[in-house]
Amino acid sequence: MAQIIFDNIAKRFGDVSVIENLNLHIRDQEFMVFVGPSGCGKSTALRMIAGLEDISAGSLSIGDRVVNDVHPKDRDVAMVFQSYALYPHMSVRENIAFGLKIRKLPTAEIDGLVSKAASMLGLTEYLDRKPRALSGGQRQRVALGRAIVRNPKVFLFDEPLSNLDAELRVTMRAEISKLQRRLKITTVYVTHDQVEAMTMGDRIAVLAPLKRHPQGNLMQVGTPLELYDRPQNLFVARFIGTPS
Ligand code: ADP
Ligand code: MG
Repeated sequence: MAQIIFDNIAKRFGDVSVIENLNLHIRDQEFMVFVGPSGCGKSTALRMIAGLEDISAGSLSIGDRVVNDVHPKDRDVAMVFQSYALYPHMSVRENIAFGLKIRKLPTAEIDGLVSKAASMLGLTEYLDRKPRALSGGQRQRVALGRAIVRNPKVFLFDEPLSNLDAELRVTMRAEISKLQRRLKITTVYVTHDQVEAMTMGDRIAVLAPLKRHPQGNLMQVGTPLELYDRPQNLFVARFIGTPS
């Protein structure tokens, strides 16, 4: 079970508060989207799950364990960023295998896992290429491959498609959704794009900047249909109703 629970979470940078009163239960195997305008705290909330950001107050659990003080490498989460973050001097094969090599898995096992991930992502014939010889979509698939081979409990995505052109973005949305349903890994996906949120999320958490809503960032959580049909406040109605 890899549910994620934000229990009264707050985050302050020095004396600047960016997240307050965040209570949210992400279900096991769920595809949860964090959506909201730039600066509302989406990345900060995601980075707290990854362990890349200290938690100022409250408790955060993954599975049945409170992880506030658990080191990122012991959290069993894999994060995919927008900038691909591939190693330019390594082949696709080496890029996908890297996280397994540093965990000192046997070579035969690494080869098997890399082949399986590559075939799932349509990368088999590109395994010996360097990232610079790949298209944007292929690079993004390599980044996905690096996350998949680790067989994490949780996938974290921070605006992974924002560097891609519009057409490829639509294709990759569908591929990521399909992959998540196949692997059944609890996923948190950050985007500022309402359409992306509405097409990908099992449920969506709409966040607002604390400057505008000092009582707390979380405006509403619900399925795409619930948010569309029954927005709980003007912020949600406007944000969901206004495609970017
Ligand atoms: P989003 O991902 O929704 O655009 P972020 O989580 O990146 O928003 O940022 C939320 C707020 O926190 C912003 O006002 C941002 O300037 C501030 N912030 C983020 N990281 C830091 C940091 N390391 N130090 C100070 N302020 C930060
Ligand atoms: Mg961000």
